[in-house]
Amino acid sequence: MVGSMMALIGMSKPRKQVFNPFHGDYFVAEANFCGTVEGAVYVDSMLGWLARWIRMLGRHAYYDSNYSDGFLSGVDGLVITRDVGLHRSRRSASLLLLTDDHAAWLAVASRVLGLGLSIDMRSTLCPECGGRLARVGRDEVAGRVPVGVAARHTDFFKCVDCGKIYWVGSHRIKIDAMLNKAMDISKRINSICIAGGTIFKID
Ligand SMILES: [Zn+2]
Repeated sequence: MVGSMMALIGMSKPRKQVFNPFHGDYFVAEANFCGTVEGAVYVDSMLGWLARWIRMLGRHAYYDSNYSDGFLSGVDGLVITRDVGLHRSRRSASLLLLTDDHAAWLAVASRVLGLGLSIDMRSTLCPECGGRLARVGRDEVAGRVPVGVAARHTDFFKCVDCGKIYWVGSHRIKIDAMLNKAMDISKRINSICIAGGTIFKID
């Protein structure tokens, strides 16, 4: 009963108080739109980790650590940032990350981009450059991957843009662990569409 009353009180607060850092809720992110976004995705500097993950989930993401605030402020598409000033300056879609928790970044990004938290090698993109990955055989990667890797695996993937070679190896365990963590957080995140924007919070 107390919980539901607190929730009602929380919902009735004016918006400016929703972002009060002393409020009991844990705010993960806010967006200046509701629902999911199509089109180009730009990731602000210091968020290269997230850009690589978005590409692995199958959506192209532009990332350059040298993007200027002026460029990101005016570019069409979605900008994902941790910079409040940049976020407020955006007229097009913007997602402001309010936490240091990388798994929470992934959970929110997957939600606004409409991406599942799973890796499908048919649609995953090169984490380094966002290029499409083409399946290639062992013969095509000879000399380009460690001999032991070539011996253990038959399926490899080559980025059609940068040429980097990938295979599903032991690092998949770490990837799945991060995806599971992001899925757990995603289940706990409430998306509240309010006044044309969205608040992502964990109660
Ligand atoms: Zn590439």
